[in-house]
Amino acid sequence: MAKEETWQAVLAQVQLSISQANFATWFKNTEILSQEGNRVIVSAPNSFAKEWLENKYGKTILKILHSLNEEIREVKYIVGKAELKISERPPVSSLSEAGQLEFQEFKVDKETNLNPRYTFENFVVGSFNELPQAAAWAVSKNPGFVYNPLFVYGGVGLGKTHLLEAIGNEVIKNFSQKKVKYVPSEKFTAGVVSSIRNHEIEDFKSKCRAIDVLVLDDVQFLAGKEKTQEEFFHTFNYLYEKNKQIILSSDRPPKAIPALAERLRSRFEGGMTADIGYPDYETRIAILKAKSQERKIDFPEEVLNYVASNIQRNIRELEGALNRFSAYQKLNNKPPDLEIAKSLLKNLILSPSKVATPKKIIQAVAEFYDLKERDLLSSSRKKEIVKPRQIAMYLLREDLKSSYPFIGRKFGGKDHTTAIHSYGKVLKGLETDESLSDEISLIRQRIFSV
Ligand code: ADP
Ligand code: MG
Repeated sequence: MAKEETWQAVLAQVQLSISQANFATWFKNTEILSQEGNRVIVSAPNSFAKEWLENKYGKTILKILHSLNEEIREVKYIVGKAELKISERPPVSSLSEAGQLEFQEFKVDKETNLNPRYTFENFVVGSFNELPQAAAWAVSKNPGFVYNPLFVYGGVGLGKTHLLEAIGNEVIKNFSQKKVKYVPSEKFTAGVVSSIRNHEIEDFKSKCRAIDVLVLDDVQFLAGKEKTQEEFFHTFNYLYEKNKQIILSSDRPPKAIPALAERLRSRFEGGMTADIGYPDYETRIAILKAKSQERKIDFPEEVLNYVASNIQRNIRELEGALNRFSAYQKLNNKPPDLEIAKSLLKNLILSPSKVATPKKIIQAVAEFYDLKERDLLSSSRKKEIVKPRQIAMYLLREDLKSSYPFIGRKFGGKDHTTAIHSYGKVLKGLETDESLSDEISLIRQRIFSV
């Protein structure tokens, strides 16, 4: 495999496991410069990206490279490529013309940091995301004056970033003079840290305050970052008072973000919070069809049905499946049939026995604490039932990413706030209570071994 292809293969796999914002931020303009024996040299555009690749993604990158070529045992990162003569080579993003995978993630607007591919037009709506979509649409028509802040939460790969960026792109379309900025939370943190280090905090502040629509993605990463939280708190207040729009996302509701300053939590909860659940089967098919159409490929019905039945909780993985099929189509000039599709998806789809379901979780928790399932699902307030019930709710959320309303309903028609409370309670308990964490891991073993 040539080094361009090798790196493309690495990027294709990395892309499946991290958020697209991070992918674009840290992997843009990276490449393999050379391989010498068992060492690969990867270049990054600046020292910042180099550090992140090394420290945060180093292990993943090495693992993927090693799986592609057993010889590779070490990766070295360097900044730039100035002294190396490789100028005749096209940058990664234009490889698409040569029939390579296309990384649209790299086509980000410099000013706004928005990716134009995320729009409302290509955002499929179903009952699982109807509410956040409607709120997002309203915000994009009237930024600063309807839901402020708008806080969207939900599991990985379910469309939070897409929706947030769609708001940004729509605002730009409607109000060309408004200054929109999309910022992944890690990047915000990095900005605070480096501006403190370089004595540029005032400059950083005034840049933040010039924004009309601030989109901060994945705020769960602010957990425990006290200085960043403090800076963001002041920015938030400043913008809010000036009727500037703030849009936030997280993988969980504000209450369940650990180590978040109370004053920030209450700000986050002060506008509209809306959660994205899981798409049902029909919606998954609709998403697959819309995305096949975008790619201008007709995949056999049975292939799409297979994907929709087996990938249930992550829209990015639905796309990942289509990407593999498209690559196959390009190489073979025909779409994969069902057998080939199955083999292409082997490592994307877990075997059924290893997958948790609400039923399995409830069964396992009841068994573990020697209770009847019926009791667990009842509204009894007995101490010996309350704790297991909270744990079951926690597991439904953590391992299945079930929506809080769903969890509430499952447990005797309780309100979603009960589910949120239970989740937060267990999460908090885990910080200090070792026996709790042991119990939960034993329960998990039961769930995943049946
Ligand atoms: P999250 O930020 O919640 O992890 P993303 O917004 O990155 O998820 O979505 C993952 C992928 O799935 C993206 O490529 C996105 O375009 C796609 N996607 C998510 N939700 C939808 C949807 N409702 N319609 C079409 N595509 C979607
Ligand atoms: Mg995201």
